[in-house]
Amino acid sequence: MKSIKWLIIFLLIAGCTKQEGKNYIMTVNGSVSADKSGVWLTHEHLLVDFIGADSIHPGRYDRTEVVKKVLPYLRQVKDKGCKTFVECTPEYLGRDPELLRILADSTKMNILTNTGFYGAVNNKYIPSSAMSLTAEEMAIIWIKEWETGIAGTGIKPGFIKIAVDRDSLTDFHKTIIKAAAITHLATGLVIASHTGPALPAFQQIEVLQEAGVDPSAFIWVHASSEKDSSKLVEAAKKGAWISLDNLNELNVGKIVEKLKYLKEKGVLGRVLISHDAGWYDPAKEDGGDFRPFTTLFDKLIPELKNNGFTKNDIKTILETNPQQAFAVKIRKANIKSKTL
Ligand SMILES: [Zn+2]
Repeated sequence: MKSIKWLIIFLLIAGCTKQEGKNYIMTVNGSVSADKSGVWLTHEHLLVDFIGADSIHPGRYDRTEVVKKVLPYLRQVKDKGCKTFVECTPEYLGRDPELLRILADSTKMNILTNTGFYGAVNNKYIPSSAMSLTAEEMAIIWIKEWETGIAGTGIKPGFIKIAVDRDSLTDFHKTIIKAAAITHLATGLVIASHTGPALPAFQQIEVLQEAGVDPSAFIWVHASSEKDSSKLVEAAKKGAWISLDNLNELNVGKIVEKLKYLKEKGVLGRVLISHDAGWYDPAKEDGGDFRPFTTLFDKLIPELKNNGFTKNDIKTILETNPQQAFAVKIRKANIKSKTL
């Protein structure tokens, strides 16, 4: 009897240690071991509705119609080797976790959705009621989605998606990034911020560090639009993830050159690649034109091989980096918080 009791205690401790030591990601179907998540697309969209936060409402599209249109594009990349797909559409822009769960079930792919507010385009996608929230009040909303699931679906976010405008951060956008910091420290979710140029990227990293969050919890989304590549190296050396997410049929050569530069500078281990493609737009006839997610597999990978990138380099970019970036893990800043 006594030995059984000890065996149970031992198994519980062993189980806990194993769970704690293992990186995991959060998909719309629950947690998945990060090292089993394979090849990723780290920034794509399946549905986006641009009507604006104060006009958006359920019923602007028929889910069955959307599934019919979108499913073949997902199957296409699954066949090419993509196992994990990050859907970056935020709330008030058409985030639909239940749609994503249907698509994940149909394809057996890992799909991630998000929590957070999208402040870019001068707050068009923030409801007026949210404009007066404090960082703490915002964070409470987002943390609740992590703890209990999004809007009664039980589906948890796999990352924090926020967005700021291209100039110096406004006070409201600083509030959003502070809310993201609080949420990260409570949940371990990585912060993917639609940013663009270097100026607001570095300002956000500073706000995060002041709030006690390490830059490795920050994905600089649309870093591809910063013309000075040395800025990407600088941010990567601080630990931030550099998202080159504008891959398309016409810029494969340019992306390869940028990757060669980043490899030469020793920061290939911080780079993420995606197309920012898709998506079904409810405002358009049959969802409008859908841009597929295939350039990475059909054009970029062969070009990387032609340009001396090893199998290991390619694995770093497409598997190891996203698995580390999106792992649910609290990343505290090393430096002391200035606000203390
Ligand atoms: Zn996007």
